Amino acid sequence: MAKSKNLEPACSFCGRLATAAGHLLAGPPGTFICRDCSKVSSDMFAKAGGKPEAAPAPAPKKADGLSKVPKPHEIFDFLNQYVIGQEQSKKVLSVAVHNHYKRLQQGEHAEAIKAYKDVEIEKSNILLIGPTGTGKTLLARTLARCLDVPFSISDATTLTEAGYVGEDVENVLLRLIQAADGDVARAQRGIVYIDEIDKIARKTENVSITRDVSGEGVQQALLKIIEGTTASVPPGGGRKHPQQEYIKINTENILFICGGAFVGLDDILNRRVSKQTLGFAETTAVKTVVEDLKRRVEPEDLMKYGMIPEFVGRLPVVTTLDPLREEDLMRVLVEPKNAMIRQYQKLMAMENVKLTFAEPGLREMARLAAKKGTGARGLRAILEHLMLEVMFEVPKRGNIREFHVTKAMVVAQRVSLDEAAEPAA
Ligand code: ADP
Repeated sequence: MAKSKNLEPACSFCGRLATAAGHLLAGPPGTFICRDCSKVSSDMFAKAGGKPEAAPAPAPKKADGLSKVPKPHEIFDFLNQYVIGQEQSKKVLSVAVHNHYKRLQQGEHAEAIKAYKDVEIEKSNILLIGPTGTGKTLLARTLARCLDVPFSISDATTLTEAGYVGEDVENVLLRLIQAADGDVARAQRGIVYIDEIDKIARKTENVSITRDVSGEGVQQALLKIIEGTTASVPPGGGRKHPQQEYIKINTENILFICGGAFVGLDDILNRRVSKQTLGFAETTAVKTVVEDLKRRVEPEDLMKYGMIPEFVGRLPVVTTLDPLREEDLMRVLVEPKNAMIRQYQKLMAMENVKLTFAEPGLREMARLAAKKGTGARGLRAILEHLMLEVMFEVPKRGNIREFHVTKAMVVAQRVSLDEAAEPAA
């Protein structure tokens, strides 16, 4: 019984539980205010002429408050701590993100940029193209962490044009506002990641009779917010309706990063590149050029894929991520700051258990994941399956101090707890 009581929300000001204080208003996660405290604070505000007395000066913020924008190499080094491989994309992103936030600081450099009064630095929204599980979301999330700005993820497939069943595009912004704990000013400098953007490509074939299957309408709707507008966001999410009050948010300084696998885009690229290189002898040098060209996605390729020209125009920075090979997957397991293996080791350390993995076991996991073709997502699935028994049994037994995961366990996809049942000598 005591347990359920502890879970009961309490006023963050007077500490009374909901049963004693009555109805509580919820603020950012885990915070509440009761009617009495709300009244007392409102009276205090009124006495202070609307200004809270002796309010502490807000701590200077990082890129969010735009006091300092990290340099591209600093962003790159930060990304390196979390993301394996994808060197080119990391470089492209570091520069684009640096420029994006520098663009917001133009006022501070008024003297230096005097001569460029009429030059407008455009927004550098980004398109990440790469197979699933190669780090697209991870890159976007890590960038937001580096800059200490709010970050949200949305799925383009859930969005629909206004008037159809599904989510309005404004919900993308609502998520960002929520990630900023309701602080619209902070949200206005945040990063939005929109996943599965390739799924809203216009389809030339297979047009069904149901609504907007082409996705073109969603591209149109997204266009405005990506480009920069003042959007009206329904605070409760869902569909907009006329009687509602809206949160106004300006999207001009929000960085949009879109990601998608774009399956089939290579065929379009191959066709274009082979047309361009027609007639050249098949020398090694030509082959290298061809490979390089295939990595460079041009706006026309994306249009052929089904993205509308205006939408492509709003995503000027395009970069492709490489599939992760077995060696990369092996590194993903152990190298990143919050590598999956380290996370399990930390969890076990909290049980006073030293968890270790045999290198051939890790290699086998990477091999199996590479075979699955779902990038690092495959690794997570394998590891989670393998560790379930350990995570369940070890705390229960209480007498295990060390646990070593062998290659045999990975091959069998089963850990044997009895091997480690006795505390190590
Ligand atoms: P997607 O490309 O499909 O967006 P994610 O970024 O969501 O893939 O990757 C899923 C998980 O796989 C991440 O949370 C991370 O743990 C791991 N991962 C994927 N790619 C990498 C990478 N390049 N380096 C390190 N970890 C990665």
